[in-house]
Amino acid sequence: MSRLITVSNRVAIPRDDGKAAGGLTVGVMAALKEHGGIWFGWNGRTTDSEPHDPQLQTDGNITYATINLNRREFEAYYNGFSNDTLWPLFHYLLGFFHFDRQNFEAYMRVNALFARKLVPLLRPDDIIWVHDYHLIPLAAELRRAGVTQPIGFFLHVPFPDYDVLRALPDHEYLIRSLCSYDVVGFHTQRDLHSFQECVTQPLAGGHVLTDGHVRAFGRRLRADVYPIGIDVDQCAHMADAHADDGAVDRLRSSLHGRRLMIGVDRLDYSKGLPERFRAYERLLEHYPGNRKQVVLMQIAPPTRTGVRTYAEIREELEGIAGHINGRFAEVDWVPLRYLNKGYDRGLLMAIYRLARVGVVTPVRDGMNLVAKEYVAAQNPEDPGALVLSTLAGAARELDAAVLVNPYDTDGVAAGMQKALEMPLAERRERHDDMLRILRRNDINTWRTRFVSHLQAAGAEARAADD
Ligand code: UDP
Repeated sequence: MSRLITVSNRVAIPRDDGKAAGGLTVGVMAALKEHGGIWFGWNGRTTDSEPHDPQLQTDGNITYATINLNRREFEAYYNGFSNDTLWPLFHYLLGFFHFDRQNFEAYMRVNALFARKLVPLLRPDDIIWVHDYHLIPLAAELRRAGVTQPIGFFLHVPFPDYDVLRALPDHEYLIRSLCSYDVVGFHTQRDLHSFQECVTQPLAGGHVLTDGHVRAFGRRLRADVYPIGIDVDQCAHMADAHADDGAVDRLRSSLHGRRLMIGVDRLDYSKGLPERFRAYERLLEHYPGNRKQVVLMQIAPPTRTGVRTYAEIREELEGIAGHINGRFAEVDWVPLRYLNKGYDRGLLMAIYRLARVGVVTPVRDGMNLVAKEYVAAQNPEDPGALVLSTLAGAARELDAAVLVNPYDTDGVAAGMQKALEMPLAERRERHDDMLRILRRNDINTWRTRFVSHLQAAGAEARAADD
């Protein structure tokens, strides 16, 4: 069997601290365990010197191969081009989009570096799976170095329409780079459609073939939809296992029977947090029966603190949270609990289960795993209701949620009210529907389908050579 080589910006080396791994890590690790292979990427450290050769750490049939990055290069490649250019662009948020040619050049250099450091570790019958927007040019760099093995790419964020993508001065380079892969995967049909639209522009001169493959820049590749799923049983199990943790107990008793609404999001402008807080304020305004009866707890760990816009959103949220609590709090009730730190996923599952309503209202999201985890963690006998943004990829599958447009303050407030009031029978029916979908397309379906398409691409290429 071919080895699987996984490449991502960061490598999640398992730690013995008992912390539950994130959704993507679970999927990638399962694939690596099945096939054996290497997980290659940055080790999370920056230095003033040039990057060393990969450090190898082996655990069973998996080798973790990690490199350091030069501090200045990292700043430009990661905080600069990846997160200040591609992230807002791919999330359709052009108001946050900045372009700097030096950052773009560092992005290309770091991708070339990844390729140079990876090539010596490869064997002829490996298959290579690259993850996310930080590494779009990697296949082109590997091809330039003579790599002929099948290479797949999965994009964990949305792929924008051509008219949005072309705000980027070098968009043609990105489209061409994506066409160096053999398999390109997206979360939703909508993202795939945007990609197909890009490759059929005159600049790419490509075609969508009748079998769904794409031909562009002299290559034929498979472009397809692979919505990422979760491990449903693991989420439910973690919710059980952590139900009596001290923190969960304290949360439960602090509620005094009030209904809990929960939001869990990195502190990112794509997550729609100011809009959500304003909708909650509207809920308390328009449906005053909720005062002293509900609590919204928002967990929002800071992220990408090196990017200025992230500091700004943090300040904005602190202002709105203070305003809401100042306006509505009573001596024995604080309507909004805003927690600016991260929690272990296991604990989160137990908190989801305590919450009558899950609030997931990003202004744009590739998928949103929190929405899926919230559903999986519920008690099926008495499940909570999910309020979900139509602009999250997850809404394509979880259409039994209370769907809302995150920009519509009144609409989100009405959705929250509907979820809070939803009778048990309706909650159970909607939960059953959503759980069925989550089981049908779980994390194993996601990774086995992608890897099998990558293997098929390898077999096709060998057959063509014979
Ligand atoms: N998460 C976590 N601790 C936190 C907040 C989030 O472990 O304090 C996890 C969460 O359970 C989920 C992931 O981080 O698995 C977030 O994935 P999602 O797709 O919702 O958003 P992303 O952060 O990838 O944009």
